[in-house]
Amino acid sequence: MTTTTAGPLCPACSRGLHPDELDRWLCGACLRAVRAWLAELPAQLVVLRGSRLRETTDGPRVAGSRTPPLPGRLDTLNLLGPCSPGDVTDPHGDQHGPLPIAGVLGSWVRLVAEDRHLEGPQRGDPEHFAAWLGPHLDWAAGQPWATELHTELQQMMRTIRGITRVRPRTRAIPRPCPSCATLALAKTDWQTYVECQACGSLYTDTELADTAAAELARLQREEQDTAA
Ligand SMILES: [Zn+2]
Ligand SMILES: [Zn+2]
Repeated sequence: MTTTTAGPLCPACSRGLHPDELDRWLCGACLRAVRAWLAELPAQLVVLRGSRLRETTDGPRVAGSRTPPLPGRLDTLNLLGPCSPGDVTDPHGDQHGPLPIAGVLGSWVRLVAEDRHLEGPQRGDPEHFAAWLGPHLDWAAGQPWATELHTELQQMMRTIRGITRVRPRTRAIPRPCPSCATLALAKTDWQTYVECQACGSLYTDTELADTAAAELARLQREEQDTAA
């Protein structure tokens, strides 16, 4: 399907921006993706920390074997490594393997904290950085570097998922969309909203439950009216 749009495009995904997104550097879908990545990160870290040892398929280890223990997986150790105190930059391309998660998130946390004259999080682990960044994302989407934030986190999540093999699942919600009545509602893990794949409407779980309750009440009233 080819979509033609006359207006400006989202710099991250090239979708046409809605009128209420024109003052932003990320469309709503890209912003929701960044939010979901930060929400997904703590669960990925649990699996990632469990993947530090190199996978071996050479059969059971023999007790008392003189084979030295295998070193940890270098890519995983890099990702989980400590961050440098300054901004993470690699002008000469000397960095081998992925940048530490704490370094990637830490440099964004420092940027946001400086720009907004705030104190950063007290603790320097990735979970705290992710939790701290979350509430600033709406503001961040209006900054010229928002596209870079999206690209870096997308790359980081791709690397992490490549190791953990844990990917978000999308489940169909078996009820019609309150807006277009199509059976196309779906919820992806760690996303805030249930999305209609047909019309693009977004619902929180609460909104969906409320419309379901209202619909049920309407049907019951109709039934009573018919019976009366
Ligand atoms: Zn976008
Ligand atoms: Zn719909």
